[in-house]
Amino acid sequence: GIPKNANLDWKKGPCRFCGVGCGVLVGTENGKAVAVKGDPNSPVNKGLCCVKGYHSIMALYGKDRLTHPLVKKNGRYVKTSMDEALDLIASKMKETIAEHGKDAVSIYGSGQWTIPDGYAASKLFKGCIGTNNVEANARLCMASAVTGFLTSFGLDEPMGCYEDIDHADVFVLWGNNMAEMHPVLFSRLLDQRLKRGVKIIDFATRTTRTSTAADKSILFLPQTDLAVANAICYEIIKNGWVNNSFVEKHCSFSKGLTNMGYGLEDNYTFTDKPEKISFEDYKTFLEDYTPEKVSKLSGVSVRDIKYMASYYGDPNKKVMSLWCMGMNQHTRGTWINNLVYNIHLLTGKISQPGNSPFSLTGQPSACGTVREVGTLTHKLPHGVVMNKEHREFAAKIWGVPAENIPSKPTYHTVEMFRALDRGDIRFMWIQVTNPMVTMPKLKRYRDGAKKEGRFIVVSDVYPTPTTDIADVILPSAMWIEREGMYGNSERRTQYFEQMVDPPGEAISDTWQLIEVAKRLGYEKQFPYKEETHIEEIYTEYRKHHDNIKHNMAPLEVLKSQSGAIWPYVDGKSTKWRFNAKYDPACSNGEDFHFYGKPDGKAIIWQRPYEPAAEEPDNEYPYWLNTGRVVEHWHTGSMTRRIPVLHQAMPHAYVELHPDDAERMQIKTGDAVRLTTRRGEITLPASINERGVPAPMQVFVPFFDENILINDITLDSFCPISKEPDYKKCAVRVEKA
Ligand code: SF4
Repeated sequence: GIPKNANLDWKKGPCRFCGVGCGVLVGTENGKAVAVKGDPNSPVNKGLCCVKGYHSIMALYGKDRLTHPLVKKNGRYVKTSMDEALDLIASKMKETIAEHGKDAVSIYGSGQWTIPDGYAASKLFKGCIGTNNVEANARLCMASAVTGFLTSFGLDEPMGCYEDIDHADVFVLWGNNMAEMHPVLFSRLLDQRLKRGVKIIDFATRTTRTSTAADKSILFLPQTDLAVANAICYEIIKNGWVNNSFVEKHCSFSKGLTNMGYGLEDNYTFTDKPEKISFEDYKTFLEDYTPEKVSKLSGVSVRDIKYMASYYGDPNKKVMSLWCMGMNQHTRGTWINNLVYNIHLLTGKISQPGNSPFSLTGQPSACGTVREVGTLTHKLPHGVVMNKEHREFAAKIWGVPAENIPSKPTYHTVEMFRALDRGDIRFMWIQVTNPMVTMPKLKRYRDGAKKEGRFIVVSDVYPTPTTDIADVILPSAMWIEREGMYGNSERRTQYFEQMVDPPGEAISDTWQLIEVAKRLGYEKQFPYKEETHIEEIYTEYRKHHDNIKHNMAPLEVLKSQSGAIWPYVDGKSTKWRFNAKYDPACSNGEDFHFYGKPDGKAIIWQRPYEPAAEEPDNEYPYWLNTGRVVEHWHTGSMTRRIPVLHQAMPHAYVELHPDDAERMQIKTGDAVRLTTRRGEITLPASINERGVPAPMQVFVPFFDENILINDITLDSFCPISKEPDYKKCAVRVEKA
């Protein structure tokens, strides 16, 4: 609550938590953040916040905040000074490189890194040290969206923006519990229903708060979304709903590899080599996906498949498709992203206000820091390490020889932790993330990280299961205790200033990296001053994006407005890319120009249905699905310190269908044992109306560090994006 009669100093910034990127106003008094409210001038949330946003400032003041560096000595953590801790980190890095080579050191960050944090990490590791061992947890949540965009359009990130919501007539949510994961954005959909009577269709494997609020809930069996999307395309073609002139002018057809495996033990491969096909070939392929055939496989009625297709096919209806983890955390994550684009491309419903395929991100800067700065092994701030020109361009700005940047990617996230387990990586610095809760098949990677001869540094704001494996723990300044920028789901970059002091010796992750860089001898590349380093880094970072297709707004613009959507051209945000009416980069004289592809055409991909990596059988008869809840931010390391949120959702649970629960005589609160091929855990049952899974499926949220569901999940991943599938594996369910 806002203290009565308070004379507060209000400052604006983006919310700390999810990828919606709501604008908030933070009230400070006597050096402390004491109130928070939605910014009525923010075009994102227009004054609203969700429960996490309204309580966000309380996450700064948990009793067990990390305030001083800690070094592990004889199995115990001992307080040390920041200088000593940074010296130790730099000397360990030097020692590791000398003994084991550059690729033995690594950094693992996050979509919660600010833009300057990620930029400093990439510059230090890729540019100065000369290793591509840079990854971020966004690999676990939106890598399939990236490869979906790249394979279909050649350029990453949604072409539309949140304003699409104000124009669309129909919203199709693909495996997307938006009411809990993107609550403020979902409230904008509900608002449009009140105002204009729009339709909301929830297409998912379980019912949730979203399905309860939707006009129609359609359930499908796990993994069969691939087949249903193809059936929708089949219906669109059969009924003559194809926008022929759009397809002829702006699309081409391709097929890619099949039977690519599930990444259970492989090395880095990125390409899905395309082979051109004709529209006729594509139509023949779709003959296997009639609604009748797909209905048997997916459990979706023929009527419901036709119902969804009819909205996409209706020329008088504008359709927005929205998705997040349900499609991205999928062993065929890239393909299912491609398939939803196929629907929009066939009907020409793309890149126009209200006609918009839109992948949402979970974290506040998954787009800004991971996708735009490029904090993944194969990426550079603008381009990829495999491209000589891109390496030369980045090296020039970084002030390093181009040969410093290796031309081959090293390890994607799962493979990076496998390398730590094997001993190929000996030093890992983990910032703003909690992999010892979030890695799939967690026990293997936890055991690997604890092996002799590994040196782990963890920068965070609270103790977590990941700080438990650290040799050095650095206390980080959090959110408004430092200055920074985040990039949200609609390509909007937003700035926040430092509003309060961090506790104890805590400093920002950016400054930690700069201090270590200097100790490693890179003073020339890291000449930034403490008072101005964020501004200096952002100005330097903008040089990487200095072109009409990707330009970032100047800092003055970010400071004076509620951020800006890139490409920022001639003093304006580009709200719809690839549409010549809105996007100045469209240069071929056509109404649409998919300039990410050499021929300017988007690709309609032939992508078949393939079964999941592990399916229920007699021994493990249920599907296990994992995810989030509205009360907690990711692993709960911050929100579990907010009393009201912790009380509302104190621990994890297994959500059972009432029929399954009755058969096993399990009641809410009873202890249930879940067993997979990776191990077992015991946790309380929840049988309520809030989330009723389809029969033979159980759901467990992953926020609870005392009930580590990822100890038993499977580390299979999409072979193109390398994103693991946290939504599907086989599990046995028993009363404990
Ligand atoms: Fe923050 Fe996301 Fe909630 Fe908005 S919807 S207030 S960004 S957590």
